[in-house]
Amino acid sequence: MRPDLQRRIPTAQAPGQGSGYVGRFAPSPTGPLHIGSLTTAVASYLHARQAGGEWLVRIEDIDPPREVAGASDRILTALEALELHWDRTVLYQSSRLEAYTQAARELFDAGLAYQCSCSRSQLRAEGAKRYPGSCRTRDAHSGPTALRVRVDDAGKSFVDNLQGIVRSTLYESTGDFVIVRRDGLPAYHLASALDDAFQGVTTIVRGVDLLDTTAAHRHLRKLLNLQDPHYLHLPVVVNARDQKLSKQTGARGVDIGIPAELAASALGYLGAPVPEELRGARPAQLWKWARRYWSIESLKGIRSIREH
Ligand code: GLU
Repeated sequence: MRPDLQRRIPTAQAPGQGSGYVGRFAPSPTGPLHIGSLTTAVASYLHARQAGGEWLVRIEDIDPPREVAGASDRILTALEALELHWDRTVLYQSSRLEAYTQAARELFDAGLAYQCSCSRSQLRAEGAKRYPGSCRTRDAHSGPTALRVRVDDAGKSFVDNLQGIVRSTLYESTGDFVIVRRDGLPAYHLASALDDAFQGVTTIVRGVDLLDTTAAHRHLRKLLNLQDPHYLHLPVVVNARDQKLSKQTGARGVDIGIPAELAASALGYLGAPVPEELRGARPAQLWKWARRYWSIESLKGIRSIREH
């Protein structure tokens, strides 16, 4: 890790200062930053700054098998080049494993989570769209086990400030979901739900591709008595085949050679084309302009934006 990026990991994080708004950008270091994730970063940054709030960066590095060496540093270097300055120290999820284990144990001890020895291939062979609950009442297991949290069949809804009312029934969509994987690693849902609360995040601005995960995060926070934030799920940038830009769909990493152009491009995707007189201005100047003239409200109800 670059020494200047190796920021101190705080043991406890203070609640939001000033306006009380705390936002965050939480990339997974599974590849370089592409224009889609950069656009998300810019939207969450601008929204936080417009609210007079803090903006945090969290590196979601809890999946070593999927991690790409050097990706965290490259993401942070790109954010720095783009003058997207974050507050506090960067939180690396790999430093929080103990907290995830403790929360998982709490849920298990309270009977809210249970061990599951079903393998993926087994579940696939059963053709189950959601976890059918096979291990709910099983006591004896051979081989490695995952930990699943129980869900009930009550329909739930929440208001997303961009996408409107979102209804879900976890029981029908996922069934009891994994919070600790069979390889012992914490699952994204657990780490994300805990860390947003740990960091005192008040407002989550992220891609609409994660809209469906929100019900799981809310469920966990409810069971663990943690506060729930506000949500704004942004449209995602899609390629010509309507696929979300991602490593899987072959999205290229951004070229930070000319930060001003990159910043202008992200603003273009957010519906804020940079005026001619600001062409070539430093990213910080563009953010200042966008804080005055851009509104996240302009993205209401939009689910995707075509890459150009
Ligand atoms: N780490 C996730 C990703 O890179 C984002 C998680 C979130 O914003 O909640 O897709």
